[in-house]
Amino acid sequence: MRMSKIYMPTLREMPAEAEIPSHKLLLRAGMIRKLVSGIYSYLPLGYRVIRKVEQIVREEMDDAGSQELLMSAIQPREIWEATGRWDNFGPEMFKLRDRNDREFCLGPTHEEYFTNLIKDEIKSYKQLPLNLYQIQTKYRDEKRPRFGLMRCREFIMKDAYSFDVDEDSMKVAYENMWQAYDKVFTRLKLKFKVVQGDTGAMGGKVSHEFMATSEVGESLIAYCDHCDYAATDEKAEVVYDVEGGVGELELERVHTPEVTTIDALVEFFGIDHSKFAKAIVYSAQGKPVIALIPGDRELNETKLCNYLGIGEHDLEMADGDTILSITGADKGFTGPIGIKEDVRILVDSRISKMKNLVVGGNETDYHIKNANYGRDFSGEVVEDLLLVKEGDRCPKCGQKLKMDRGIEVGNIFQLGTKYSDSLHAKFLDENGKEKPFIMGSYGIGVSRSVAAVVEQYHDEDGIIWPLVVAPYHVIITVINTKDEVQLELGEKLYTDLKSMGVEVLIDDRNERAGVKFKDRDLIGIPIRITAGKKSKDSVVEYSIRGEEGRIEVPITDIIPLIKEEFNKAGLNFLK
Ligand code: ATP
Ligand code: MG
Repeated sequence: MRMSKIYMPTLREMPAEAEIPSHKLLLRAGMIRKLVSGIYSYLPLGYRVIRKVEQIVREEMDDAGSQELLMSAIQPREIWEATGRWDNFGPEMFKLRDRNDREFCLGPTHEEYFTNLIKDEIKSYKQLPLNLYQIQTKYRDEKRPRFGLMRCREFIMKDAYSFDVDEDSMKVAYENMWQAYDKVFTRLKLKFKVVQGDTGAMGGKVSHEFMATSEVGESLIAYCDHCDYAATDEKAEVVYDVEGGVGELELERVHTPEVTTIDALVEFFGIDHSKFAKAIVYSAQGKPVIALIPGDRELNETKLCNYLGIGEHDLEMADGDTILSITGADKGFTGPIGIKEDVRILVDSRISKMKNLVVGGNETDYHIKNANYGRDFSGEVVEDLLLVKEGDRCPKCGQKLKMDRGIEVGNIFQLGTKYSDSLHAKFLDENGKEKPFIMGSYGIGVSRSVAAVVEQYHDEDGIIWPLVVAPYHVIITVINTKDEVQLELGEKLYTDLKSMGVEVLIDDRNERAGVKFKDRDLIGIPIRITAGKKSKDSVVEYSIRGEEGRIEVPITDIIPLIKEEFNKAGLNFLK
């Protein structure tokens, strides 16, 4: 492709809306453009990267025995109604009606659809196991679309579904997909961790997430250096040493005017954060619920939702009026003592072991000292409502946990029978008995993976594409296109390389060399050849994006050098 012809609208200025490197660079390099919030077009260079990522995913899925098909993005309400997810998926689902008022959604995922597809056609255990996948556009009306390709409302996903006769066989399918994902992300050159995930709205009990490590990642990972434990912050079980304390002291009402935060209370009472119990009032499906946790900890909303059996969109912070109506006090003075009886109080198990806590007084400007679970208040004790933090104990080996940030690029789930049960998808086993399919589902964020690669491979000048996903392998820069010798040499190399199956760009624009160098850094093509003054001696400059140094080489040496790069990247040099 010629740079004089390519549709690659690069930007000199930093796009104001973009906060993270991949978003900025993909926009600046003319690889993506925003239509509206969370909805992007992939421009020619960007789309080439998308297709390469898709191809790697496709090869590994095929190799793992999964079969590719393509389903519609539009799905009828009925199949979602059957699993309860028409409502439970919440506002993330894009819904629409046809001219006859029939309701549909734009698929945010395809468990229902795949189950429905096979249920009348796969009748016998002899046809199992089955694993199907597609690479397709998904729609989710995300609450906070942001970070370019990272969190979109329309994005490309590879989704796969496995159908098995029993749990053991499903676990084999799961393991098989895990291996395939390892291969995909390794081939994409991503540094990643596999961590336990929360199964949330998907159903099932076991899931793992593939996290590309990145400081701008939206996910937090807790992991242990001493054993192999790793989990998302949503999932990670919280274990830490709680001080039990001495005997129970007498309750004391304390005037605490305008002291409404834990930090302010710490200052007021002159005692440690851990001596307070924090009461957080939520509205869960419209009903007030109080969560009571240690003052030095944060609440984990995923755990709260799982305990309540609701989706995260059904949970919101209660407003001041709600708080007033159940406590009789303003926000900041809520406590567990004397709350209206029909309000559920969920007590983190640590609170039930701690002694003589300071709690809100349920009266504006008052707190209560020496509150003790059992004696002064009760509630539903929940094993764990807390968000993990650095230094907590590893639930597996007891050592100290560390925290890292990651970009979730893939997710695998053991679903069990949630979908086959509700959609009556059954087969006949060896004894002629009807059984529901045991399912798994497996997603890879194709477009998000592109953003993850950019996050891990860039510098201040632009993207540094790994050769395997680069939009083009080679860029030839002709320094002065008015110099016939330079242009001719560049053109010859361009034709030769193309004929060998190398994907090559030639910068044949009538621009200053500085502009060409800046653009080439920005778009991040890995192998760079510069035809300049020495072209008359058939000598060009050769360098690799992101690596120090450049060498002058006779053009006869170029092909072996490129072959070497291909070999290093595990790519076949075609001809
Ligand atoms: P997240 O926790 O980031 O919202 P998820 O758990 O909702 O992700 P899945 O339903 O497991 O995601 O979807 C499979 C994969 O699709 C994810 O691992 C991720 O890579 C990708 N993905 C999910 N939501 C988006 C989005 N809004 N934009 C881009 N990619 C996404
Ligand atoms: Mg999501």
